[in-house]
Amino acid sequence: MNSPMGELLPPTRLMLTPGPSCIDPRVYRAMSTPIVGHLDPWFLEMMGDVQVLLRQVFQTQNRLTFPISASGSGGIEAAVLNPLEAGDEAIICVNGVFSERMALIAERTPAKIIRVEAPYGKPCDPDDVRRAGKGKKIKILGVTHGESSTSVVTNLDNMRKVADELGALLVVDTVSTLAGMPVDVDKTKIDICFSGSQKALSAPPGMSPITVSARMEEVLRARKSPVQSWYFDLTTTMNYWGKERTYHHTAPISLVFALREALRIVLEEGLPARWERHKENRDALVAGLEAMGLELFVENPKDRQVTVTGIKVPQGIEDAKVRGQLLNEFNIEIAGGFGPIKGKLWRVGLMGYGCQKNNVLIFLAALEKCLLDQGFRLSSGAGVGAAIRSYSDAHAAMAGHK
Ligand SMILES: *Cc1c(COP(=O)(O)O)cnc(C)c1O
Repeated sequence: MNSPMGELLPPTRLMLTPGPSCIDPRVYRAMSTPIVGHLDPWFLEMMGDVQVLLRQVFQTQNRLTFPISASGSGGIEAAVLNPLEAGDEAIICVNGVFSERMALIAERTPAKIIRVEAPYGKPCDPDDVRRAGKGKKIKILGVTHGESSTSVVTNLDNMRKVADELGALLVVDTVSTLAGMPVDVDKTKIDICFSGSQKALSAPPGMSPITVSARMEEVLRARKSPVQSWYFDLTTTMNYWGKERTYHHTAPISLVFALREALRIVLEEGLPARWERHKENRDALVAGLEAMGLELFVENPKDRQVTVTGIKVPQGIEDAKVRGQLLNEFNIEIAGGFGPIKGKLWRVGLMGYGCQKNNVLIFLAALEKCLLDQGFRLSSGAGVGAAIRSYSDAHAAMAGHK
């Protein structure tokens, strides 16, 4: 009998959003290989590969390193719920929707939460953190590295410095930056660092790699009360991902396969080369956008995230109409703003496998058409031309170094 629905045939899209990003065919192949049991000796051994690869990508020696079976938001839950209990005080830097989410999760714990805020489009000021924590016993300082809702990056070294002054542990959300921008967990002495599989790692959504410092592990062991969440309790999950490999929950086996291949691809390219590729493409994108007369959402160039670029929606242009046209006419998906900045910006993700020259050029050309159709005045080909020059200059600079 025929199924009433027909076979699932999704459209082929170019996903230039801040996640999920495009996926390398190798990762799809790994994901479609037959599954084995989550307690099969072969699988238990393969989990070790994933942990070795993850430590390299996080640049850490931390024993407690594994992918949580959840999207990036699950990483926030784990990172915040594990260290905090009654009687603790914590500072969360809030400058966008994802750091706001970290604060909202922290506020559900019995700990006292101090928010240090910055306007959307700017990073939080380390001096504000310093002032907020003065004379207090701050247990953790929570920071979002790439606030992809606004495309702002926060300087982690400065935040580490303040955390040291306050005697606080540093918790960092690198969901939208790991493997696309430098993140060095051991060098920066990050105590909990977590990410998401579907952004610059270019794996499907559903996993949140996390790593916990030895210092933080001790703090977790010294807890007086059990962690609020059973599922996200890092010490018990680690019995599955640790030496014991005892059942905790059923791992999303196909996603672990996919993540393993995605991590292999990251390390084959090499982290420095990968960061450089992200920067080169972002620079070309920005050159193109500015040549088209568009403005970036984040004013200060040093505060701009590399993996996500926020563009101000120009006056007189309909945000949703442009995004709809990009999708329907060109099969390109970009993201709009959400939360308090809904309708104010477009967000373009150049992450992992999707971060390629051809995608930058196609996007700039398609965007030009959408803007022209709404009567925006720009000189034809300006964006693509400037991007090509940016690539060409980068190439010449490289050659000069040799
Ligand atoms: C995408 C993102 C998240 C949320 O991840 P989900 O996978 O959607 O749960 C959290 N933090 C940052 C910085 C992000 O970019």
